[in-house]
Parts: sequence; C-alpha cells; structure tokens
Amino acid sequence: MEANHAHRSSSETLMAALLSSSVPASRLLPSLAADTRRLRCRLAFLLLSPPHFSRALARLRAMSLPSKAELLGRVLIRSLLLLLPALSPDGSHHLLRIPATDLDAAILLLAMCDSYSPPAAASSSSPSCSSPVDWHALLVDDAVGSALSISGLGATPWASLAPYVDAAAKCRRFADVVSQERVAVGGGKDGEWRGGASYAAVLAMPPAAGDGAPCAICREEMVRRGGGGVCALRPCGHRFHWHCALRWLARRNTCPCCRAELPAEDARAETRRLWRAVERMATGDDSVGCA
Ligand SMILES: [Zn+2]
Ligand SMILES: [Zn+2]
Repeated sequence: MEANHAHRSSSETLMAALLSSSVPASRLLPSLAADTRRLRCRLAFLLLSPPHFSRALARLRAMSLPSKAELLGRVLIRSLLLLLPALSPDGSHHLLRIPATDLDAAILLLAMCDSYSPPAAASSSSPSCSSPVDWHALLVDDAVGSALSISGLGATPWASLAPYVDAAAKCRRFADVVSQERVAVGGGKDGEWRGGASYAAVLAMPPAAGDGAPCAICREEMVRRGGGGVCALRPCGHRFHWHCALRWLARRNTCPCCRAELPAEDARAETRRLWRAVERMATGDDSVGCA
C-alpha cells in the first residue's frame, strides 16, 4: 500500500490532499493564522512569566516518555486536523481538545522540538557537555527569531500554512517511529493496532433495532426490538449487541465484520489512521471514511 506512493514525501502528500480538499484557502488560511497567533501569544506569555514557565516545564519533566510521546502525537494530529478539516467533518475530533493542564506543556514541548539542535546547544552552553540546556534562553532566542520572520510578521497569509504542513508531515514519521517501538514491545501482528476506539466515537454510536440476525461477535441473535440492546457502528453501520461492541472496541478500533476503522483513543494509532485517510485524499480516493 505504502509502496505505491513511496516516491511522494509527506509534504507532497499533504499538498496533494490540500488541493483535493473542499475547504477553500480563503477560509483555511485565516483560521491557521489565528491559531498561530494564539499559540505564539501563549508561548510569549510563558516566556515572560517565570512562574508559568517553571510550572509548564515541571509538568513536562514529570511526564513519562510514553506520556510525552502521546502529547507530541496529539499536538501533531491537531496541526493535521486544522490543515485538513475534512478529516474531522464536524470539527469535534477528540484529539483536538488538549486538556488545559497539558496545553502549556504541549506548547513548550513543540517549541523545544523546533528550537533544539544538539550542536547549537553544545556550542552555546558551557564547556561541560553535562550542563543542562538553558531552555528559557534557547526558546526566547527562537521566539524572537520566528516573530521577526515573514510568517511571524504575517506578511503573507500563505506563510502561515508552512508550519502546519511541517507539523502534519511529522505525523507520518511519528507514527513510524512509535509503531517500531510498539512492535519491539510485542504489539499486534501484521502491523495491526491494538488500541481501542475513542470514547467519543463509541459514545456517538447510534442505538439500532435488532433485525433478528446474529451478532457477529457473540453469534447470538439480536432480538427484534427498538433501541437499547443493539448499536450500529459508524461509519459502516454494522450492528452488534451494545455490550459486545463495547468489549470489542475497548481493545480495537476496527469493525469485526468489515474492518472499517473508527477513530482511535490513542494518538499513535489515530495518527496512522488519519495518515491513511490523507493518502486516500491525496490519491483522489474520496472514500475518506473518517467520521
Ligand atoms: Zn453479541
Ligand atoms: Zn463494519
């Protein structure tokens, strides 16, 4: 599947998907520019307020490596969803909502990823390599530099697109890296993800009437009565007992009948699902099937 478009870089795939997107640039660019301004203002606030900066840095340092990876994944997915709103048609994707307590840590983490380069950090710090990086100084330098750039000055609305394409392109690399890590830990066979479906997607499943057919999970008949015991999966509409579907979707985000994918709760699994949808958009296959 991936071999077909191996010649395409992530950015090229994204640009192709953008061109096929139904959201006009006149609507997309101002919303991206507004988001950039919001995040940049928050970063400036963190850099100007020592207690807030320390709190966000402490929050980040207290996180385990998997939690940091999850947070980074959420932030990258956020860029992807803002860039391609078609991936989340109702704009209510669960990963767009980053908890307020994590948002400052996320903004800091993103700024750190952008500004950190090992040689620069080594030459700017004292001769001892073990001295900690002065993140505050590094981020202030970087923030001033980017505020004075073309995109920072808002000289052209197109300039606000580039950071989002960059961040969204990182999604694929992020998914590749963490999927290797998952395989090493003993994850699913055949690259299959074991992450459960997102709680929001499960809660949004509509109740359905049983039609007397057997439930594909437990093989027992779904009785003919309205609502309550039976639900229909989105996007495919296959029906199962509620309790069977809940047990199944706690461990997987695919339909047991047709393997249609539901949004995943885990940012890593969700990154892979969304990226596959981006590739379908880029190749003009409009069965995005992401809702
Ligand atoms: Zn069942
Ligand atoms: Zn199905």
